[in-house]
Amino acid sequence: MTEDRFERELELLGVSLSENQKIQFETYYKLLVEWNKKMNLTGITDKEQVYLKHFYDSATLVKVIDLREEKTLCDIGTGAGFPGLVLKILFPELEVTLVDALNKRILFLEHVIEVLKLKNIKTIHERAEEYAKEHREEFDVVTSRAVAALPMLLEYSVPLVKIGKYFIPMKADIAQEIKASERSIKIMSVKLKCQETFSLPIENSTRTILKFQKEKSSHVKYPRKFSEIKRNPL
Ligand code: SAM
Repeated sequence: MTEDRFERELELLGVSLSENQKIQFETYYKLLVEWNKKMNLTGITDKEQVYLKHFYDSATLVKVIDLREEKTLCDIGTGAGFPGLVLKILFPELEVTLVDALNKRILFLEHVIEVLKLKNIKTIHERAEEYAKEHREEFDVVTSRAVAALPMLLEYSVPLVKIGKYFIPMKADIAQEIKASERSIKIMSVKLKCQETFSLPIENSTRTILKFQKEKSSHVKYPRKFSEIKRNPL
């Protein structure tokens, strides 16, 4: 996706890019490629592919929520900043928290944040299940792209969500996972409000964004570790 096409596709999503935001994306791309030479941040480095599969794909979260109406967003397993850092560039007013278990990715994110002069954004080097223990019900929106299977994601992301607010995982193909998540959805007290399935422009691969609304506090005291959830699903 060329930068021009990126701009046009964002317009279709209802988001206009300022000159400063265009420069921020260009700089983010350059830093991603430069740092990727010394650490593994992404398998995608071709400019048009990064604009399509990382920048545009991250922005599609706005298909299910108007982020101008929300104050705080937490991105679990953000990696090189997808979708959290992209959303921060697009919505500078949003207070964004980027969580990742791998410190080298956090160092990259901190560098990008400094170079782009972004404010009200912080990085957390911690496992999501640990972070969630101390930050229950703090966020309007919790999102996560390409991190874990849905039952696990629900269990360690939903505790972070304020009651009445949203957990929005971004997935490739989801049908099987929703079926496998029925029990977790019930126990975590969330309701699937909407499911948006679409094709990425140009390459037409399938994407699904789920929007869960948290109805009440879950009786699960704290999110369990991945390994424990796998051995003993709820
Ligand atoms: N969300 C990014 C994206 O879509 O490009 C990164 C996806 S990458 C496949 C998964 C990321 O999740 C990695 O950066 C990994 O360090 C992080 N991760 C995996 N398990 C995690 C956990 N329990 N807590 C926090 N981060 C985790």
